[in-house]
Amino acid sequence: MQLPIYLDYHATTPVDPRVFEAMAPYFSKTFGNAASRSHVFGWEAEAAVDVAREQLARALNASTKEIVFTSGATESDNLAILGVARHFREKGRHVVTAATEHSAVLDSCRALEKENFRVTYLIPEKTGEISVERIREAIDEDTILVSLMLANNEIGTIQNLAEVGALCRERGVLFHTDAVQGFGKIPFDVQAAHVDLASITAHKIYGPKGVGALYVRAQRPRVRLEPILHGGGHERGMRSGTLNVPGIVGFGVAAELAVGEMPEESQRLRRLRLRLFDGLSSRLEGVGLNGPALPRIEADGSLAADVEERRLPGNLNVSFAGVDGEALLSSLKDLAVSSGAACTSASLKPSHVLQAIGVPDALAHASIRYGLGRWTSAEEIDYAIETTAAEVLRLREHAPLPAGQTR
Ligand code: PLP
Repeated sequence: MQLPIYLDYHATTPVDPRVFEAMAPYFSKTFGNAASRSHVFGWEAEAAVDVAREQLARALNASTKEIVFTSGATESDNLAILGVARHFREKGRHVVTAATEHSAVLDSCRALEKENFRVTYLIPEKTGEISVERIREAIDEDTILVSLMLANNEIGTIQNLAEVGALCRERGVLFHTDAVQGFGKIPFDVQAAHVDLASITAHKIYGPKGVGALYVRAQRPRVRLEPILHGGGHERGMRSGTLNVPGIVGFGVAAELAVGEMPEESQRLRRLRLRLFDGLSSRLEGVGLNGPALPRIEADGSLAADVEERRLPGNLNVSFAGVDGEALLSSLKDLAVSSGAACTSASLKPSHVLQAIGVPDALAHASIRYGLGRWTSAEEIDYAIETTAAEVLRLREHAPLPAGQTR
């Protein structure tokens, strides 16, 4: 076992060696510009992009012309939200989303507010779920778009998109999902979920950083949007810019591997996650689970038949009462974990997700997100249990905090 141990797979993942190998020729051997039409260098690059487009379309149950390559999910979220809202501004000026969305969605919505759109930020239940009734109540005659994530990056909550998608279709409202954390980890099918736009990114599924895609429904309804990048008219005019061919090749292979290995891998992760939670709770008092309940699993690691899974298999988010979260995080030197979304961990503000589900600030500060992934082993989990338990006990003894206080 090598230290430090990486348990931050929601932030990013290492590139799978099989993905890396597939990408390698496209840096300096088959290096053409996929938009070059007059020679073999361009044709080869385009053919490689076509293969990846097919792999992604298959993984999403979409068609190839519905895949728009981007620089990552931040861009995909911006393109979906700003692009749709600006295109349909004459039809309506209201957008519905959740307070627990990623900043790429929330900040795109805030940008729309500056353009005189109205945005409703729904507060979820304690589990992080947003009921379809809440969305039904929020939609009015001015609503043009609902944006709701497939799975949350902090507490792992999986939303029931199919119900929301059916409602949106019935009401003639477009439906976008930030599918970044769920894609490749749990079943996701754009037809079954009645999704019109979906953001995905390669680096959360063992592909490279800096490449993503936006699924844009081509029929029933054909989704139109205003591009946010202007230039050569690549990607059917929706996203100009020379394609990142090696990145796209890697994204396609990563998606195929993730979807293919999902059944066994998700069982393995559920078992390890339960081992982690049981280990922490048996050694420590005051361990609070943030987000949905952990599903019951059978002896073979499969999900109990009567359980509807509401949390990503590799996610565990827990609070340790009576300790200073920052002190805990800095004392866990051999564990790469996170105290909130990686993107906001530079600030000491409690996580907006934990706040939205009603976790008191003191406990939100003392919370740790463990993200398990493809190379997480039982040995690593046991080490994580022992070091976390030892540090929590040490901090409680040497720097006790009155309940409800962090520092
Ligand atoms: N959406 C969610 C839910 C995420 O977890 C992330 C990554 O942190 C993003 C969007 C942004 O993705 P990218 O890093 O590809 O821009």
